[in-house]
Amino acid sequence: MSCQWRDKVALYVDNELEAPAQQQFTAHLSSCTECPAAVREQMEFKKALRLAGRSFSAPPELHAEIYRSLHPHTTTSPWWKWILAPLCAMLLAAVSFLLWPKSGSTDPMVSGLVDQHITMLASGRLDVLNSDSHTVKPWYQGKLPFTFKFPEIKDSPFTLVGGNLVFAGQNPGAEVVYQIRQHKISVFVFQARDAAGNPGSNRDQSFTVNAWRQGGLQYYLVTDANKEDAGKLVTMFQGANGS
Ligand SMILES: [Zn+2]
Repeated sequence: MSCQWRDKVALYVDNELEAPAQQQFTAHLSSCTECPAAVREQMEFKKALRLAGRSFSAPPELHAEIYRSLHPHTTTSPWWKWILAPLCAMLLAAVSFLLWPKSGSTDPMVSGLVDQHITMLASGRLDVLNSDSHTVKPWYQGKLPFTFKFPEIKDSPFTLVGGNLVFAGQNPGAEVVYQIRQHKISVFVFQARDAAGNPGSNRDQSFTVNAWRQGGLQYYLVTDANKEDAGKLVTMFQGANGS
């Protein structure tokens, strides 16, 4: 028997369901035996498409090669070639655009981190699974070229679940995962790179995303928990890492 949510998996991973349905699906993931695997599979596909889109650009020699193979004994005047090459390029650009996965966010970094959060929810996989920050924090030592402090959560509604080592391009970062009620929160920490790219807080459809920069590090928080809960954890992180 197949789960009734199965046909919504593709919409879910692209964050294209209505916000309430998106949240219901997130909750459903923890109880369903079929959907988490389907979501993981779809995320892999999405990642592969994105990488293919990024790495593919046809060099001019390839255009020439294709042209020659199509017209082995051509006597066509040269101007025709000059028209054909840009047409090919335009066609390739149009195809790449159509293949590019749609996303609610315009910042590719934020979209990638929302994808990572969904993958973590679907797989339940964490590199280090521990509720004690004194175990999770040292786990990152030697794996990251920077350090940051974990906030004290003893008297808060949050519990620590664990952490992952994640990559944005070539740059390693931390994904620290917390839980509040039924919701998971991912806090991502990377080295801050340029002056731009501090989107503040926004709602990527059904996911709350907060971004802030502190002490040379770039933080992102992604969760399906509400804005108030997210804000609370942001404040705690900022407090822990203040000078
Ligand atoms: Zn299901």
